[in-house]
Amino acid sequence: MRHPMFTEEHELFRDSVRKFVEKELTPHAEEWEEAEEFPNTVFTRMGELGFLGLRFPEKYGGQNCDFLFPIVLAEELGRSSIGSIGMAVAVQSEMATPPIHKFGTEEQKMKYLLPANQGKKIACLGITEPNAGSDVAAIQTTARRDGDQWVINGRKIFITNGVRADFITLIARTGEKKGYKGVSLFLVDKGTPGFTVTRKLNKVGMRSSDTAELLFEDCRVPVSAMLGEEGKGFYHIMWELQGERIMAAANAVSRAQMAYELALKYAQERVQFGKPLAHFQVTRHRLADMVTEIEAARHLTYYCAWMFQNGEYPVKEISMAKLFAAQVAGRVVDAALQIHGGYGYMMEYPIQRYWRDTRLGRIGGGTDEIMKEIIANEVLGRMKE
Ligand SMILES: Cc1cc2nc3c(=O)[nH]c(=O)nc-3n(C[C@H](O)[C@H](O)[C@H](O)COP(=O)(O)OP(=O)(O)OC[C@H]3O[C@@H](n4cnc5c(N)ncnc54)[C@H](O)[C@@H]3O)c2cc1C
Repeated sequence: MRHPMFTEEHELFRDSVRKFVEKELTPHAEEWEEAEEFPNTVFTRMGELGFLGLRFPEKYGGQNCDFLFPIVLAEELGRSSIGSIGMAVAVQSEMATPPIHKFGTEEQKMKYLLPANQGKKIACLGITEPNAGSDVAAIQTTARRDGDQWVINGRKIFITNGVRADFITLIARTGEKKGYKGVSLFLVDKGTPGFTVTRKLNKVGMRSSDTAELLFEDCRVPVSAMLGEEGKGFYHIMWELQGERIMAAANAVSRAQMAYELALKYAQERVQFGKPLAHFQVTRHRLADMVTEIEAARHLTYYCAWMFQNGEYPVKEISMAKLFAAQVAGRVVDAALQIHGGYGYMMEYPIQRYWRDTRLGRIGGGTDEIMKEIIANEVLGRMKE
């Protein structure tokens, strides 16, 4: 039955994404994971199908859709058994490009946003550094003004799409040495002298997504490369985090749902002691717990999506949804693997990939602990230093 939050249009869109996932993504899962890369043509194809930049105006290659369309996209990509693609697309459409739409000049929108939404350019977002992860305000990458140029120096780490990206939305310090002030955004093209990909990182999961370490050494960009206002970079990037966290929750719920469905099927087929596993009460109760938790996480996520869609900015509830959905997904994929027994531990069964990919949900986009910190601050107020 259709959830009342979604219209017929959302459901038609869901059908078309689901068909695309089943036909064009899932059959390649093993091959792409083995190659540690999915092809760039996935972006081009999704651009052609109008699946990228759903919320942006048509003029910039988007579809002018409401917030629930990207939720549907995140849910359906979560069903693909290749977590990497949902993550790469979320970085492209929900993290690296929204600040261009909101704060960019017309020239920047035509140069970066339009081709990104068409799938002709790939974007990445550079916030995290070796010494600044959860503590974003500790970033050390600097941009120094020199005439009509900015000179960028520093390192970024764990950058999704960082190896293949055509450009980066980069956060760097232009003013005060510490804190959230004095930080600005830049759009830097791959190939700019001084900007190098130093390493492709080897990961536990999300293996077909490329994750890079990047180096900026006296990298000179024109003043026109600054995105938005000087010194406002942190605020420019933070406003979008809430939407991105709802997407992350939706994606986690959908991956949990798929893992549950695999376990349900397996439990009905696998016979031990003369009976299917689903006959044993311990398995039945485990499946009941799984589906109950998934449903609870889904409803919290939908509630946040509905509030966000209606112009509210419920930071506490969104942090709860991101935290709870990531934890539920972690528990569900682990239980689903357990139901598969030894077969679940074999690479030929897709459940292992859900198990490995899902672990990132409790780290990326703000860790569990940081989500709890935000919730506690909302409930108790900030702790005095
Ligand atoms: C696969 C992958 C893809 C990523 N993609 C991107 C990307 O595209 N762009 C980007 O900029 N970043 C990206 N990240 C970085 C990600 O956002 C960070 O890894 C995350 O924010 C945590 O930072 P950290 O890894 O430095 O951990 P740390 O901040 O060092 O945290 C280590 C541990 O300490 C805990 N901790 C830290 N501070 C506190 C505190 N105050 N109270 C309690 N506990 C605390 C954390 O919760 C965690 O458990 C990616 C990471 C991964 C693994």
